[in-house]
Amino acid sequence: MRILVIEDERKVANFIKHGLEEERYIVDTAYDGNTGLNMAINNQFDAILLDVMLPGKDGFVVLKELREAGILTPILMLTARGSTDDRVQGLDLGADDYLAKPFSFEELAARLRSILRRTGPDKSTKLRCGDLILDTVSHFAYRSGVEIELTTKEYALLEYLMRNKNKILSRSTITQHVWRHNFDPESNIIDVYIKRLRSKIEGEDSAKPIIQSIRGVGYRLRDVPGDDNGND
Ligand code: CA
Repeated sequence: MRILVIEDERKVANFIKHGLEEERYIVDTAYDGNTGLNMAINNQFDAILLDVMLPGKDGFVVLKELREAGILTPILMLTARGSTDDRVQGLDLGADDYLAKPFSFEELAARLRSILRRTGPDKSTKLRCGDLILDTVSHFAYRSGVEIELTTKEYALLEYLMRNKNKILSRSTITQHVWRHNFDPESNIIDVYIKRLRSKIEGEDSAKPIIQSIRGVGYRLRDVPGDDNGND
């Protein structure tokens, strides 16, 4: 999942970025409102952390302009402590949640997971696809109860596929959400990672592929009917 942090205090921005990267997010930062707004409009982020007091356009203006531009990315506002007006204004302008400064990183991470759950199709902290389970808190994957070890990138890729299961995802869309650069049609990096991921999650059972290749387009992670026995 790719997150944009718009925060002018570099120390705070770097603290958040570093922490979120440890939580396996891909993180971009912007240090003023105009840059943040442009980045949010021109890239596909899964969530935005938006400070209120910013040079250039402040957080409320950024939020308002994003929503007016039809960008529905979940937004967590970072507000001043005790400022009820800020919180009310933010929520009324279309923010999904707020967090008062100073905050603990643990709370920030939990609220971020919460808005991603609320705005996504999956309301659980565990993503499921047949007997494949991905725990978004511990970052472990399990297939038929057996733990699968994933690298940071493999986790990010699998999480994105699982949050969008049964949808056909183009290589360009996958790149936008899982890598911090634009899609290069000459590069086969996604195919390389998909291959690694397949060998880990599909194992020897190639008769039941979970990740389907869609020729000329990209990939789709699909629910295998009948594989889900309903047990946890
Ligand atoms: Ca600020």
